[in-house]
Amino acid sequence: MTDSFSTRSFHRRTILKQGTLFLLAGAMNSVDPILGADPSDNLKVGLVTDMHYADKPTRGSRHYRETLDKLEAAAIHFEKAKPHFIAELGDFIDAADSVDAEQSYLKTINKQFAPICKERHYILGNHCVDTLTKEEFLSGVEQKKSYYSFDQKGIHFVVLDSCFRSDGKPYQRKNFQWTDANIPPAELEWLAGDLEDNDKPTIVFAHQRLDVSNNHGVRNCRKVREILEKSGNVKAVFQGHSHQNDLKEIGGIHYCTLVAMVEGSGEENSAYTMMTVAKNGSIAIEGFLKQKSYQW
Ligand SMILES: [Zn+2]
Repeated sequence: MTDSFSTRSFHRRTILKQGTLFLLAGAMNSVDPILGADPSDNLKVGLVTDMHYADKPTRGSRHYRETLDKLEAAAIHFEKAKPHFIAELGDFIDAADSVDAEQSYLKTINKQFAPICKERHYILGNHCVDTLTKEEFLSGVEQKKSYYSFDQKGIHFVVLDSCFRSDGKPYQRKNFQWTDANIPPAELEWLAGDLEDNDKPTIVFAHQRLDVSNNHGVRNCRKVREILEKSGNVKAVFQGHSHQNDLKEIGGIHYCTLVAMVEGSGEENSAYTMMTVAKNGSIAIEGFLKQKSYQW
């Protein structure tokens, strides 16, 4: 990882917070404290993952009901920071015993999530479609597609859907094993075409991991990485699913895994992220609570 910040001349002070070193610019000039560019050119994105909201008792380290309070705290921060959009990286809800109960979990969490930011992107996680169909989930959050791309302030964003079995069937209503995550041929073809037509710095959002070949990885992740690397424009992939902090660099692309909001009890056991992207594609990740911070 290169530190493109080391050559900047403005005054900095360093703060040690949650074991992470933050570099902040002095308040004397108009440069952005994170990326050193004109702040009005920077794109700000709020990120959260693995909220697993469900009105059911705690199981192991997953405190499903506490997600509402944790989200409320994150929302206060996001409302101040005013991101251009917010992306939720999957497992927004946890499984219910019935479709009706699951719909009510989705309604409850989205009622609290939606007011945070007008533009929202929902990445499908395996738990989102454990009880519901993809259509039911997407209509509950008013999103048309499970995979698509969009541009914001000169940056290209790709949303992926890896909730497909190896035989190409979409996940729905407990018809799958969570370890059998795949991106089917039609989506790969779409992805390759989408990236071919694009010349902007690109950021990818996914739920299941594209940087590991264990149970948390997409089974055909090598093929997906090949397509991402071939484009030459992909700067980073943000993913959830394994609930832990992780960062890998493969083929010149950063694969950043974000921490789950649902893990642990109490407001200190939460995680959310503010990402700042400069026009040249440099990225700063400001992690809160259990989430680590990075810049590259
Ligand atoms: Zn999860």
